[in-house]
Amino acid sequence: MGAGPAGLTAAYELTKHDVPVTVIEKDPSYVGGLARTVEHNGYRFDIGGHRFFSKNQEIEDLWTEVMQDEMLTRGRLSRIYYRGRFYAYPIKAFNALWNLGPVEAVRCLVSYAYAKVRPIKNPRSLEDWVRNQFGWRLYSIFFKTYTEKVWGISTKELSADWAAQRIKSLDLGLVIRSALLPKRKPRDRGEIVTTLIDRFRYPRLGPGQMWERVTSILESRGRPVLMGRTILRIEHRGGLVRTVVARNDDGAVEEYAGSQFVSSIPMRELVRLLEPAPPAPVLDAANKLGYRDFISIALMIDRPDLFPDNWIYIHDPSVKVGRIQNFKNWSPDMVPDQTKTCLGLEYFCFEGDGLWTMDDAALIDVARKELAQLGMCPPEAVFDGVVVRQQKAYPVYDDVYQARVQVIRDYLAKSLPNLHVAGRNGMHKYNNQDHSMMTALLVARAIATGSALDPWKVNADAVYHEDIRVGEKDLSGRQVPERLAGVSR
Ligand SMILES: Cc1cc2nc3c(=O)[nH]c(=O)nc-3n(C[C@H](O)[C@H](O)[C@H](O)COP(=O)(O)OP(=O)(O)OC[C@H]3O[C@@H](n4cnc5c(N)ncnc54)[C@H](O)[C@@H]3O)c2cc1C
Repeated sequence: MGAGPAGLTAAYELTKHDVPVTVIEKDPSYVGGLARTVEHNGYRFDIGGHRFFSKNQEIEDLWTEVMQDEMLTRGRLSRIYYRGRFYAYPIKAFNALWNLGPVEAVRCLVSYAYAKVRPIKNPRSLEDWVRNQFGWRLYSIFFKTYTEKVWGISTKELSADWAAQRIKSLDLGLVIRSALLPKRKPRDRGEIVTTLIDRFRYPRLGPGQMWERVTSILESRGRPVLMGRTILRIEHRGGLVRTVVARNDDGAVEEYAGSQFVSSIPMRELVRLLEPAPPAPVLDAANKLGYRDFISIALMIDRPDLFPDNWIYIHDPSVKVGRIQNFKNWSPDMVPDQTKTCLGLEYFCFEGDGLWTMDDAALIDVARKELAQLGMCPPEAVFDGVVVRQQKAYPVYDDVYQARVQVIRDYLAKSLPNLHVAGRNGMHKYNNQDHSMMTALLVARAIATGSALDPWKVNADAVYHEDIRVGEKDLSGRQVPERLAGVSR
């Protein structure tokens, strides 16, 4: 169920083992899910730019196997834009203070000194923790606005733990030394990996090209992906799932019987589709899983070159846009005409809120005006635009999501052992393609070979760890802020 990276990887692996598969996808035309590439009049754009980078060599090899010489290696440039100036990302204190100018730099230093002399005792919120480390002014410029844009939650309500794990504290002595002394070579593998992230791979025609290719390979193996199928129910009997019932684009209802089922559709949806319905606590746990949604507005602009970054983080509080992608800088072939540019303005939102329900023309107008307001391009240079709304772009990690996911996992494992979950929303894990693919590979191998591989033991770096125990926090990589216990929206 689902033809995103997880569903397609599972099918690709299963067909390698000669296991017959059927892939059902609700989108009428695009494969790739969140990693699809949308096309509009020859302009191609992602739902958020997708870097192909993994610490898991097997996944890197799989990308190469499918893409061959269509995979580009690109340099990464992604800066922060704030009040008309660009700042290095990750933030470098000297560069930040220099760019802010002497008056603001002095204010930042005074506020930093004040925070050091008068720290907030026992900081609980992200706001308190970052303010203690950087001072209020640097915090409000570089952390507050963007974090709140992405998660739609005040930084007062987010837990300090996330910041403590992810954000390096500021040592002004070190800042001054590193500004004056020549750069040394990286010392260890960790530093080299960090440097490597400055380069990433990217399919010539965007991430969707990878998934279009996998779909063609499946077709050549006699297993075409069935598009435009909306799942109506997942029927089970006697402790096993028996049939998936879907409606196709023509309105006809179809039934797909099987012996093993892999779901990469959002966990909340999966549980709701089960028939008979699961026990109330399982349904309740699923209904309370939260998501952050996303709108990408692609604007076609009559300019050959606007900025050199792949993407820019917009910290400016006067606009709603959170990030701007420049797809031509990911791959020149993302635009049909090199005298033009295609930017993707990204807005983080909740399904049904003011932005989500705005009509497309109004959204394009907002994007065009914000671009002009940021001083990036005059409104009359924008000659076309298209809006893509993406539900459930980010699974939300609140303080109780793990317990809810556990209730669902336990139920599925005990009551429906032939129903397997894989992927990002399939497992409610805020991870990249490599993680989704690795979980799907393991599920497929377990089905094909009968081995006891467990996709829940894949960590955020897409590495399979036999020793991750249930309930243990995986601190190896991508972490997201968690809402403070007792704070509700
Ligand atoms: C803004 C953004 C930027 C990202 N950047 C990167 C990046 O730089 N690098 C990277 O590696 N990853 C990135 N990711 C993450 C990456 O997109 C995901 O990890 C990956 O797409 C997850 O794959 P999946 O198959 O698990 O889920 P999805 O991609 O969500 O695919 C699920 C599929 O199931 C289908 N589906 C859902 N419900 C049903 C239903 N009821 N019936 C039938 N089909 C259904 C959907 O249409 C979809 O095609 C990014 C994600 C976002 C949102």
